[in-house]
Amino acid sequence: MKIISSEIQAKEVLKNYTDIVLVPTMGNLHDGHISLVNKAKEIGKTIVSSIFINPLQFGVNEDFDSYPRTLENDLIQLESAGSHFVFHPSKEILEGIKNRKAPPLSKKMCGKTRPEHFDGVVTIVGKLFEVIKPQFAVFGLKDYQQFLIIKNLASLSDFETEIIGSDIVRENDGLAMSSRNNLLTSDNRLLAPEIYKRLCWIKENISNKSNEILIKDSIDFFKKKGLVPEYLKICDPDTLEDLNHFSGRALIAIAIKLGAVRLIDNILLD
Ligand code: AMP
Repeated sequence: MKIISSEIQAKEVLKNYTDIVLVPTMGNLHDGHISLVNKAKEIGKTIVSSIFINPLQFGVNEDFDSYPRTLENDLIQLESAGSHFVFHPSKEILEGIKNRKAPPLSKKMCGKTRPEHFDGVVTIVGKLFEVIKPQFAVFGLKDYQQFLIIKNLASLSDFETEIIGSDIVRENDGLAMSSRNNLLTSDNRLLAPEIYKRLCWIKENISNKSNEILIKDSIDFFKKKGLVPEYLKICDPDTLEDLNHFSGRALIAIAIKLGAVRLIDNILLD
């Protein structure tokens, strides 16, 4: 596995590859990230993973400084997963970067509390696409709103990258794997599986209760545990507009803070 550490080097080393699958990450890798590399291996020949903690997608009071940095261990995992290259640029990648605006979809759900987050995401991912020129890029469906926004980005005429969504990988107790799970207190770690359990409860009841009741009961459920979801939605998987009734397709999505740690999760009914 070769490590590429600058834009110039990336353009030189990768210029003759036409079958690249890109797996963008911010490092602190877990099995969720590795599943993206495995997915990439199914669809293309040359796997380029990237590790860059992008300051543009963190708000001023968010956890950029405390975001876990575990490069050495990340590289070991990527190598054994079969990544051929790792693009690990320094922050010079941001110099002269083309600032991009995420589409209106970015104002919903996570965009309500993280208003500039998705602009930062499309700016860096646009840059990665420009530099790496991947044929495919794999994104986790755990960040479902991000997946939709990146699909929108890739549809712009600047790019010829096809976006592939990859299923959510969970701990044995159902908690969606996340780099932030390690930051949970032990009490909150015990509470965290309730998030996915509740999404499953909504899924099980979606045909026999109204969406309004499902949301209300679930918010009451979390309140009894001392938690208030930032959002809990049953919405259209393409537009993220709230759905009043279930008619076959829906995204059940939540963001919730456990102490200082913000977690997101979802179930896609398709
Ligand atoms: P991050 O390093 O958190 O920016 O995530 C990099 C990529 O890994 C994104 O496409 C995420 O959606 C994906 N990802 C993170 N956690 C999971 C998970 N538990 N299952 C599947 N994909 C994930």
